[in-house]
Amino acid sequence: MGGAVLDGLPGWVTLLRAPNPGPMTLDGTNTWVLRAPGEELGFVIDPGPLDEGHLSAVAELAPFRAILVTHGHRDHIEGAPRLAQMLGGDVPVVAAGPEIKSDGLRITILDTPGHTGDSVCFLVECGNDRAMFTGDTILGRGSTVVAAPDGDLGAYLQSLEILNAFPRVLMLPGHGPAQPDVSAMARFYLEHRRERLAQVTAAMEQGADTPDEVVDLVYPDIDPAVRFAAIFSAKAQLDYLRHKNRESGTGADGLDRL
Ligand SMILES: [Zn+2]
Repeated sequence: MGGAVLDGLPGWVTLLRAPNPGPMTLDGTNTWVLRAPGEELGFVIDPGPLDEGHLSAVAELAPFRAILVTHGHRDHIEGAPRLAQMLGGDVPVVAAGPEIKSDGLRITILDTPGHTGDSVCFLVECGNDRAMFTGDTILGRGSTVVAAPDGDLGAYLQSLEILNAFPRVLMLPGHGPAQPDVSAMARFYLEHRRERLAQVTAAMEQGADTPDEVVDLVYPDIDPAVRFAAIFSAKAQLDYLRHKNRESGTGADGLDRL
């Protein structure tokens, strides 16, 4: 059995945590198994990495209607083909589409780009219960990365606004612990991003011009193991601010450039 089970999850949700901890994956990738009470077929969200023990533990909870994936990063989807094979090859892998209504669940797929261009969240309703599976759009703790090559901070902020519209809906992320209120988490990260953008604006005013220079000024004590992630973030922030400044016709300091 490769997984840990959290306390306090609804009875129709099981967490199997993959054994791939790291600076970007926190304790490991969360693979979620959903099955409505009394139903035969369940769903898998994010099979996780290609780890035989982990995938076997997931396959033990079969049968499944479909394997859903939140986005194309390897730590979420690498195991999907092997899991599908373990399940006999006739369970589809689903990454997009507006809604699935079957086997006692209603699953609404929300486009939430930003972390990557292909990121989605799954709003799952089971009876009167609702839960939002956020993948890497919002992690259970710590800040997600607007990742190269197709992450986009402007899109990310809009995606957080989308998630802000679900007050008191349980949040089940791709990494880290469950959180009781996805809307509160979205608001927290909107505020956090605004603070970071203000810091990057200040760094630009001090002459920072490259992602490296921004990281040196904004995150002076950063752990070298995650510096590359901060560089991605700084690049996304610079791109976002420069785009905004071009649109408003002003420089980073709000003054027209000569
Ligand atoms: Zn990711």
